[in-house]
Amino acid sequence: MPPERTAPDAPIFALASGAGRAAIAVMRLTGAGCGEILRHLCGTVPAPRRATVRGLQRRAGDGAPVLLDRALVLWFPGPGSYTGEDSAELHLHAGPAVIAAVADALVALGARPAEPGEFTRRAFMNGRLDLIEAEGIADLIDAETEAQRRQALEQADGTLSHLYDGWATRLRVMLAHQEALIDFPDEELPPEIEQALLDELRTLAGEMRAHLDDGGRGERLRRGLLFAIIGAPNVGKSSLLNRLAERDVAIVSPRAGTTRDAIEVRVVLGDVPVTLIDTAGLRETEDEIEAEGVRRALFHVKQADCVIGMFDGDMPPDDLPADAILVRNKIDLNPATATLQDAIAISVYEGTGLARLTDTLAERARALTAAKAGPPLTRARHRAAIEESAGHLAAALDMHWPEMRGEEMRLAMRALGRLTGAVGVEDLLDTVFGQFCIGK
Ligand code: GDP
Repeated sequence: MPPERTAPDAPIFALASGAGRAAIAVMRLTGAGCGEILRHLCGTVPAPRRATVRGLQRRAGDGAPVLLDRALVLWFPGPGSYTGEDSAELHLHAGPAVIAAVADALVALGARPAEPGEFTRRAFMNGRLDLIEAEGIADLIDAETEAQRRQALEQADGTLSHLYDGWATRLRVMLAHQEALIDFPDEELPPEIEQALLDELRTLAGEMRAHLDDGGRGERLRRGLLFAIIGAPNVGKSSLLNRLAERDVAIVSPRAGTTRDAIEVRVVLGDVPVTLIDTAGLRETEDEIEAEGVRRALFHVKQADCVIGMFDGDMPPDDLPADAILVRNKIDLNPATATLQDAIAISVYEGTGLARLTDTLAERARALTAAKAGPPLTRARHRAAIEESAGHLAAALDMHWPEMRGEEMRLAMRALGRLTGAVGVEDLLDTVFGQFCIGK
């Protein structure tokens, strides 16, 4: 539902703390008339940014005050607030009846419940942060591991915006030079000017390419990795998954072909969230359901960031990707068999080799997400915009007519503007802010 069904600065409220039993619940309020609402709710507006204990009350039908809760009230006058508008926080006792009574009182005073991400959307509309920083805040709320937290916080703090704004500023200067070339006849300007412009364009296009060609590290860390365990039926894939997940999620059975569909668990390896998929065993089969399982297994192998190729004899599965991690299981049965050089020998039964396997998996997870120089690209939306911008720069470099080159540069500039939200992003806002939780 578009939040603009009321005035863009209409007062809104939402619970900013999570649901569930807790001591305190934080109710957030922002928008025009917020001060007036506070005055009705707690008598007077507290001093700005000073935590103040107040009785919250509503008026009964006969006008008599009814006490709802005794709460800590914070008043954040705009424009220096999170949203840029007059805002407040009410730290309530977290009982559901208290929360409901205060919400009812706020509605009676003219506020409405906020949509997901509406507070941050207002912060964006009021120029308090750009789109990249807003997305960083969404990622920070979703961060499960330390590495994800660090990456999201840097983005929310503007490191990535600084990089992209820097590109936009340079491009703006180049565009001005290009326009000068168009406006003045050739003989009035030395040829070095055009050469210098082309050099700068080439440098910028190169920097964008390098940023794009980072192997998707930042995006991987943000969304987590996918590791697929594949191998013939009965080699112990489900058993390994259960061991790594430290609980029974997959059925272990001596009958080949028991795992018919992919089973997923989320674990943390090397400070990166990893979804481990136990695929159906890869084998020729007459059984239709099992065949579907095998098809899905192959699909996961294609999607996976890393494939764990498991076997229990001497022969690893066929057609593994070159960077697959090889695991030979059941060495308790056959310890004497010469181990393939680069296979990790384990026994899920006895726990042998599992520490080494976990270390190897963690190392791979870290390598797949390790930061290189500069802040990493973190979203498909950013990748698409930078691809588009870099594409126009490449076209500009190929263009001999000054007017056409100028046009390509303008298009490159526009793509960068959409990236940070500086230009034409109305159509993007519902998608970007819809991913937020309510109250943020
Ligand atoms: P999957 O079909 O590859 O998922 O294999 P399962 O995990 O279902 O295991 C197949 C059979 O091998 C089961 O009977 C397991 O108990 C057995 N198994 C799994 N790991 C080991 C191991 O390390 N040693 C021995 N001896 N048996 C194992």
